[in-house]
Amino acid sequence: MQRNLSHLASEEYDILVVGAGIYGACAARDAALRGLKVAIIDKGDFGSATSQNSLKIIHGGLRYLQQADVIRMRESIRERRTLMKIAPQFVHPLSCIMPTYGHLTKGREALFIGLLINDIIGFDRNRLEDPEKHLPRGRTIPKKKVVELLPGIATEGLTGGAIWYDCQTHNSERLLLSFLLAAAAEGARAANYVEATGFLTRGRRVIGVAAIDRISGEKFELRARVVLTTTGPWVGNLLGRLGTRPRGSPLRLSSAINLVTRSLIGGYATGISSRAGLIEEDAFVRRGSRLYFIAPWRSVSLVGTAYAPYEGDPDSYRVTEREITDLIAEIDRAYPAGGLTRADVKAVHAGLLPMDKVSRRTGEVILSKRYCLIDHRTHDGWDGLISVLGVKYTTARAVAEKAVDIALRKLGSAFVTSRSDEAPIYGGRIPRFDDFLAAAVHGRPEGISPESMTHLVYHYGSRYPDILSYVQREPALANPLPGQKYVIGAEVVHAVREEMALTLADCVLRRTELGSAGDPGEACLAACANLMARERGWDHARREKEIREAEAVYIPRV
Ligand SMILES: Cc1cc2nc3c(=O)[nH]c(=O)nc-3n(C[C@H](O)[C@H](O)[C@H](O)COP(=O)(O)OP(=O)(O)OC[C@H]3O[C@@H](n4cnc5c(N)ncnc54)[C@H](O)[C@@H]3O)c2cc1C
Repeated sequence: MQRNLSHLASEEYDILVVGAGIYGACAARDAALRGLKVAIIDKGDFGSATSQNSLKIIHGGLRYLQQADVIRMRESIRERRTLMKIAPQFVHPLSCIMPTYGHLTKGREALFIGLLINDIIGFDRNRLEDPEKHLPRGRTIPKKKVVELLPGIATEGLTGGAIWYDCQTHNSERLLLSFLLAAAAEGARAANYVEATGFLTRGRRVIGVAAIDRISGEKFELRARVVLTTTGPWVGNLLGRLGTRPRGSPLRLSSAINLVTRSLIGGYATGISSRAGLIEEDAFVRRGSRLYFIAPWRSVSLVGTAYAPYEGDPDSYRVTEREITDLIAEIDRAYPAGGLTRADVKAVHAGLLPMDKVSRRTGEVILSKRYCLIDHRTHDGWDGLISVLGVKYTTARAVAEKAVDIALRKLGSAFVTSRSDEAPIYGGRIPRFDDFLAAAVHGRPEGISPESMTHLVYHYGSRYPDILSYVQREPALANPLPGQKYVIGAEVVHAVREEMALTLADCVLRRTELGSAGDPGEACLAACANLMARERGWDHARREKEIREAEAVYIPRV
């Protein structure tokens, strides 16, 4: 996948996707798989906004049972299975546990019934060839077992626990990138750091966008028969330039924050409830969700999610130190045995999500539950324009498919059925994951440790030979980077040459797993910057600037 803007601007596309978060990436791939001429741009790096900040849970929507929302549950269950099938290297089963207190709606008996219904609704969840992807039935467990699994959990009123299974992705950034790489393999053109600054119109028809290269400052136009905006929290900003906006606007946004901490609970993703009433009146998380998750992820824990209304421009959003300390205090109250302190926080994942309202009764943010898919011809009379505003990473592919269905109708071409729920994404050609992994580790070349080989399979799937090809030419690239156990130099070179990593932060946060779970350290950043400098021809000053900017990612606003 190469960034070539003159090439990009030289054609008229069937569909131009503006915004390469997970929704845009899925739409670009879906459209390219149907034989459309596709381009996709993002004003930052691919997947550098909301999609980079997910809790990484690919979930079947057990929580929607509370609203008896079977349709949404079915959609989530189907997409969870689809992702396991098309992206088997990234999406793996996750065991989840929730302690139960009392005997009422959140008691063990109620959860027993809930899990039973969940299994009935998800009757076809295991229609997959690979046994590694099969999710066992949910079950309840006695109090004694809960205390064993979650040492230090509050025991007052504890009646037992519920165990169920969802999925998790160990690398949501590479999962997204692999959708884009798959789109590119089908002929889609992609460019990061290209912003749509306005629309090109003819009468009441959108015929493309005015764009700016955020690297060189050069302005140009991109023409397309259909423009699809998948700009996440920026949806209002871009559509505003056309004098329109999504129905129900002004769009209300909530911040959403997760902490990456030292490992707090191993084995199970754990749902814990905070104890309301103990929080100071003006505390940030008072307005947030009271159910938190502590999920094991790589060798750390992901802790969250705290929500609060956000009214500023999405570009200005930065997490504050106060928000971090409030969330720590809240988690500490909910699970004192974890002993969480500020020193345990290695990174913060934060983004903006559409919200419906703030509950007057509880002060909690009520997030939007439904995605928004707009055909602007019927919405506000603008033809050639479709907009999507998603609410979950899990269901992005399905929503993107619907958006491309509309685009096809607009194009007036023969209807081609989507194959995006069948075709493997980049590196996804793996019929049985465990067998594939074992064979790759067994047949690894000299100089690659079993741990690095395992890591390569989990991150590049069936395309791991792409990475090994660099090692053949330059054996030193098989060495893990300083302070790292598995990530090798060849991944950095590949990121620059084939995956459009333009900055050190692109490489550290979104092409490799070096920095997404915390600061990888000075020596690692320096080694990574050296490799990038060699590839990109950076001078000393540029290299230093890149290191400073990558380090700044880990410093919250005061
Ligand atoms: C903390 C947190 C935890 C979450 N946990 C989960 C979870 O566990 N499971 C789950 O399923 N979901 C989860 N979500 C929700 C999920 O992450 C989002 O629904 C999803 O990532 C939204 O994707 P998107 O593509 O719509 O938006 P984004 O990822 O924000 O993508 C929009 C893109 O558009 C680009 N853009 C904007 N304007 C322009 C322009 N003018 N020109 C070009 N490009 C532009 C932006 O740069 C951005 O990259 C979580 C969200 C957060 C914040």
